[in-house]
Parts: sequence; C-alpha cells; structure tokens
Amino acid sequence: MSEHYDLIAIGGGSGGLSVAERAARFGARCAVVESGRLGGTCVNVGCVPKKIMWYGADLAHRLRDAADYGFDLRVGGFDWAELARRREAYISGINTWYHTYLEDSDVAEIPGHARFVEPRTLDVEGRRISADHVVIGVGGRPVIPDVPGAALGIDSDGFFALEHRPERVAVIGAGYIAVELAGMLNALGTRVSMYLRRETFLRSFDPMLRDTLMEQMLADGVNVLPRTAITGLTRTAGGISVACEQAESGGEYDAVIWAVGRKPNTADLGLDAAGVIRDGDGFIPVDGFQNTNVEGVYAIGDVTGGPALTPVAIAAGRRLADRLFGGQPERRLVYENIPSVVFSHPPIGTVGLTEDEARETHGDAVKVYTTRFTGMFHALTEHKVMTAMKLITVGAKDKVVGAHIIGPGADEMLQGFAVAIRMGATKQDLDDTVALHPTSAEELVTMR
Ligand SMILES: Cc1cc2nc3c(=O)[nH]c(=O)nc-3n(C[C@H](O)[C@H](O)[C@H](O)COP(=O)(O)OP(=O)(O)OC[C@H]3O[C@@H](n4cnc5c(N)ncnc54)[C@H](O)[C@@H]3O)c2cc1C
Repeated sequence: MSEHYDLIAIGGGSGGLSVAERAARFGARCAVVESGRLGGTCVNVGCVPKKIMWYGADLAHRLRDAADYGFDLRVGGFDWAELARRREAYISGINTWYHTYLEDSDVAEIPGHARFVEPRTLDVEGRRISADHVVIGVGGRPVIPDVPGAALGIDSDGFFALEHRPERVAVIGAGYIAVELAGMLNALGTRVSMYLRRETFLRSFDPMLRDTLMEQMLADGVNVLPRTAITGLTRTAGGISVACEQAESGGEYDAVIWAVGRKPNTADLGLDAAGVIRDGDGFIPVDGFQNTNVEGVYAIGDVTGGPALTPVAIAAGRRLADRLFGGQPERRLVYENIPSVVFSHPPIGTVGLTEDEARETHGDAVKVYTTRFTGMFHALTEHKVMTAMKLITVGAKDKVVGAHIIGPGADEMLQGFAVAIRMGATKQDLDDTVALHPTSAEELVTMR
C-alpha cells in the first residue's frame, strides 16, 4: 500500500529536518526518511563533535597559559576516551531529542534508505511512499583517494571513532576540516604532520587569514609539508607509512587522516528513475529556489554543491517550506555574504569578499584596512597568539564588502558584523559605533 504526504524530505540532517519541521508548522503532512542517525553529519560526525573536541583543545591551551596568570597547576593527564565518551553521550541525547521533536511536530519518521522509483515516489526498504513535494537533503561523505593502501587511513568520521589519542598523526588535506583536525590533535599533545598538495591551506580564504594561521601553526609545532603528492600508505612494524613523490616528506604515523574533500550521497538514490540531473561530481544542480530540473523535486544543503555549512542547509530548507506552504512565493535563500568560521587555533571568522575577489570585481574602488596585534590576554603569557583583522570596502561610501578575523574569540565576534554587512554597513557606520573596551573586537570599529 502506498502512503502519500504533502512533503517528504530524504535525509534527516540539517536541511531535511528543517524543511519538514517548518512545512509541518504550516499544516503540511510531512515525513523524513533517514538511513542513519537523526541530525545527519553536523550532529553526529561534524560540527557538534568537532566543536566539543575544539573546546577540549582550547582548554589545553588555557591550562598551559594558567601558570602565567599565577596558578600553580599540575595537570595529571588527558583522558581522550573519557572526553569521547562524554561527547557521544551528549550526541546521543541530541539524537533522542530529535525523535521526540519530530513526533511533537507531527512529522513522520521513516527509518531506512530511500530510492526514487518515479519522480515523486520512493522506495524505502520495500515501503512505497509518495508526496507532492520531495526534498533531497542527503548530504555527503568524505572522499578517500584512490592510492594503494588508502584504506589504512581514516577520514573525519574515523577521527570521531578514535578511542585513544594517537601519538603521531598525518593529516592529508588543505581544507578547513584538515586544518581543524590538525589543530585539535596538536593542542591535545599529538605530533601532527600536515600534507598539503600545494603551497598552503585554506586557499579560498583571504590570504591574511591563511598566512597568519600558517605562522601560528608552525610556531605551535605542527609539521607542515607543502607541495606533497601522496603515492600510497603501507603498514609497517612501527605504524602506517606515508609515501610521497617527494621521498623526503614521507613518514611513519599511528593514524593517517584523509581530509581531501567530500562527495554527495547521490550514487544510490535512484535519481535516473526520477529524471533528476546530477553534475559530473554527483551534485544536484538547483536554481535560486532550490528547484531541480524535475517539477516537485528540490535539493538543499551539501548535496547541491553550495556552501557546505549547517546554517545554509537549514536556511534553504526553511525558506523552501515558507515558499511551498507559507504563502511566500518569492522566499528563497540568497547565497551572498554567508559568514563562516574555522575552528582552528586561534579560530577564524570570515564574511563577504576576500581582497582578491573584491579587486577582481571592483578594481581600484577597493580599500583595505588591516590590523595585527597580540590580544591583552596574551600580553601576560609566554605562548603568544596573534590576532589579525581585515576590512574590505568599496566605492566612495566605503561600503564594507568583506570582514576577516583570526584570533581568540573571532568565532563569536563575527556574527554581529555579518548582520551589519548584510544590511549594507559602511566604514563610517563602523567608525560611528562606540567601541567595547577592552576587547579585541573594538579594533574593528577603530581601524585607520
Ligand atoms: C568534520 C566536519 C565538521 C563540520 N563542521 C561544521 C561547522 O563547524 N559548521 C558548519 O556550519 N558546518 C560544518 N560541517 C558541515 C555540515 O555538517 C554540513 O554542511 C551539514 O550537515 C549539511 O546538512 P545536509 O542536511 O545537507 O546533510 P547531512 O547533515 O549530511 O544530512 C544528510 C542525511 O541524509 C541521510 N541520507 C543519505 N542518503 C540517504 C538516503 N538515500 N535515504 C535516507 N537517508 C539518507 C544521511 O544519513 C544523513 O543523515 C562540518 C562537516 C564535517 C564533516
């Protein structure tokens, strides 16, 4: 027997849960199909466990700095397994909360793997379900490259499954996940080598951010190996050996982490049966309203190849529900000025255009304001951490089109500036704002 809904979300991650919950609020009959754990990547193997590990790593830095503030501390040790146990207990609480939340929101939860059999009809483990609107929010998974012995390495999911802290780790990759994992492990006492295919990491970020972070990570003892091409991994008596085209860069590790990108979960979704087009990398192209090429079938979140961030998937899902069921036909997510954070040590907060992007679009109309300093907390500490900030403005009115911050607190600092930039703030608006003192953030309204 077939069940019919107003809307089905495939995937109970950030996007799928948001679209179904919002649509149900408008009275739509909704279902979410999830093959794994509710909450998706972010809750189970992404933002949430990552931020818990980052807090642990940040605490390690604070404990080191405590002596410089007069504390006589002796840290007996660090129990990775205990932190992991507490982290997973927290996540399991979120999973449970989601089950209740769906029930309370009148959204049907359908466990299992969904495949299209027709444009708006799905098979879920033998159960036939259909809907007027089907939203694909299946997210993605880590890429493991095709080199000999690749399976000896783990990915970010494997990082969260580690039961003990590995002593020596190779992190292969140059994106934000690679940088974050390397920073956390290093802070928690692991010897970390980062293998970069090119000269540097975070290549899509403003150069000031990546240069400052590189400087800090090198000062903090991360062994960065630029321009390395990995040719394979082998098991040796002493661990896992990484082989590179550049023989001198090879090494032996207790764990090797692949952080070389993610691919969409579209290979086993029956998209051909629905006639939904994928691009060469498997992502589902959408228009500005999240429509795929098939009427009544939409895609949101990581599977679209857009910015792979939880709030982006959530915002796209909620706006789609507003449009389909909330009487707001023009409602859509505008993919501009999307802020993002890198939980490095120190963290990065960034919104808007990089300096290169601004110059490419606006040429000589661009002005750049920068500052670099050691925040007051580190005036007393032996271990120094840099803060650097950049504002990018355009035109006679000095409209702010980019804000880039690296330093302690940058993650919490950026959100308000993202609001201001979205509202069209000018440099004068920032200058006219009374500073908060003494903070690092005040530099953003006092730059010359
Ligand atoms: C290590 C890591 C750290 C991250 N840190 C951050 C961060 O700090 N901040 C941030 O904003 N973002 C972060 N992200 C990105 C964020 O997790 C994703 O952008 C977000 O989860 C995307 O949501 P989504 O709904 O598109 O997909 P997902 O959350 O991946 O959800 C997709 C769901 O669909 C399910 N599914 C797949 N195929 C099927 C099928 N055929 N049938 C049924 N169910 C299916 C999957 O099991 C999954 O639960 C991080 C990601 C990783 C990997």
